Amino acid sequence: MQTETTDTLVVGGGQAGIAMSEHLGKAGVPHLVLERNRIAERWRSQRWDSLVANGPAWHDRFPGLEFKGMSPDAFAPKEDVADYLAAYAEKIGAPIRSGVDVRSVRRLEGSAGFRIETSQGVIEAVRVVAATGPFQKPVIPQIVPPTPGITQIHSADYRNPGALPPGGVLVVGAGSSGVQIAEELMQAGRKVFLSVGPHDRPPRRYRGRDFVWWLGVLGLWDAEAPGNEHVTISVSGAHGGKTVDFRKLAHQGMTLVGRTERHAEGALHFALDLAENLARGDLNYLSVLDAADEYVRRNGLDLPEEPEARTTLPEPDCVTTPLRSLDLSSAGISTIIWATGFAQDYGWLQVDAFDADGKPAHQRGVSNEPGVYFLGLPWQSRRGSSFIWGVWHDAKFIADQIAIQRSYAAYVPSPERETENA
Ligand SMILES: Cc1cc2nc3c(=O)[nH]c(=O)nc-3n(C[C@H](O)[C@H](O)[C@H](O)COP(=O)(O)OP(=O)(O)OC[C@H]3O[C@@H](n4cnc5c(N)ncnc54)[C@H](O)[C@@H]3O)c2cc1C
Repeated sequence: MQTETTDTLVVGGGQAGIAMSEHLGKAGVPHLVLERNRIAERWRSQRWDSLVANGPAWHDRFPGLEFKGMSPDAFAPKEDVADYLAAYAEKIGAPIRSGVDVRSVRRLEGSAGFRIETSQGVIEAVRVVAATGPFQKPVIPQIVPPTPGITQIHSADYRNPGALPPGGVLVVGAGSSGVQIAEELMQAGRKVFLSVGPHDRPPRRYRGRDFVWWLGVLGLWDAEAPGNEHVTISVSGAHGGKTVDFRKLAHQGMTLVGRTERHAEGALHFALDLAENLARGDLNYLSVLDAADEYVRRNGLDLPEEPEARTTLPEPDCVTTPLRSLDLSSAGISTIIWATGFAQDYGWLQVDAFDADGKPAHQRGVSNEPGVYFLGLPWQSRRGSSFIWGVWHDAKFIADQIAIQRSYAAYVPSPERETENA
């Protein structure tokens, strides 16, 4: 049987793979996108039921298509995001093959390109784009050993309050996932503890504009990677979108604790950093208000003032007298939800494109290994890189780089030059 060939093989049919296909198509690059499940699968089956997009519909989308049937200021439910991406793929005629798992990619011996083994046969391609997601493999820190009576899951496996065993819940991690899940559980009548680490906490809206607009006009989506220190961002589009306010959640009955450090004899122990983490989140919040006020002043904009945005609720008891430890059984905790982030898994990409820590070695997605590209990495080129609108711009850059390489490869010396050299 003849081996199938293509110029560029894109692995992954989420938003990154679709954006890549659009730009490759525009650049006239023959390509194929392989997706092991369905288009935008992670939005369909790997997120909790009530999840809505963190950004409003006018913003969290590709430039070429608007969300239909909802206000541009609404926050699209996750199924609508998946449907939107599938509709987009159809609109651009993306050559996506679903249900095909890429098992290995290896450099060809003695010729340019790669041999790709898939669940449906072998393909050879000159280039490979890994668009397999910024958030691939759920990470649960090894803190609590398997304990009878305690269910431990990652936020990626949480669906809804009714799917958990009865009892109290400890949510570890207060980024966008952790805080939304904790609030949903509290509203469902659960006793909830939330372990809060360092975080950024932008205002949802200020002076009549959503924070995605403020980050846009202030150039903050284009900020480059902040070095090694990853600070989670705590923001939510749930219930029409409101600023995450940890003190409010505590006044409503949630118990906040500091960073989860260790487990001993049935009890979890927390760092005494809760007040500090909240204060740091406040500083981030206030820095956005300050920058927004300055932007309004400098540009002479007529946006309503909002002094009440600077008021802070009184410190709840759990902040002034923080818990150092929690005996899980006496606190009635039956479930721990680890909202502790994700790692990447490139086991299938068996090429020299990784650093000593196994992370992609690249510049704006162009890897050290010629012909291998990454797309959709967190902070690939800037803050916006892992988000729907940001990946579209990174994909354009990668398509440009591929077109440049193709034009070098297509170079043929002119007949005069051939004669000169003869
Ligand atoms: C809880 C949560 C909420 C988020 N909310 C927002 C939001 O509101 N707005 C926003 O802009 N961003 C949001 N993001 C961030 C980002 O938009 C999503 O993570 C998005 O799914 C990333 O898209 P992607 O195409 O880069 O990767 P993915 O959606 O992860 O797609 C990668 C695809 O590759 C496939 N794949 C992987 N390995 C292989 C293989 N070997 N062979 C074949 N196929 C393979 C997977 O099945 C998957 O479908 C959110 C992320 C999370 C975790």
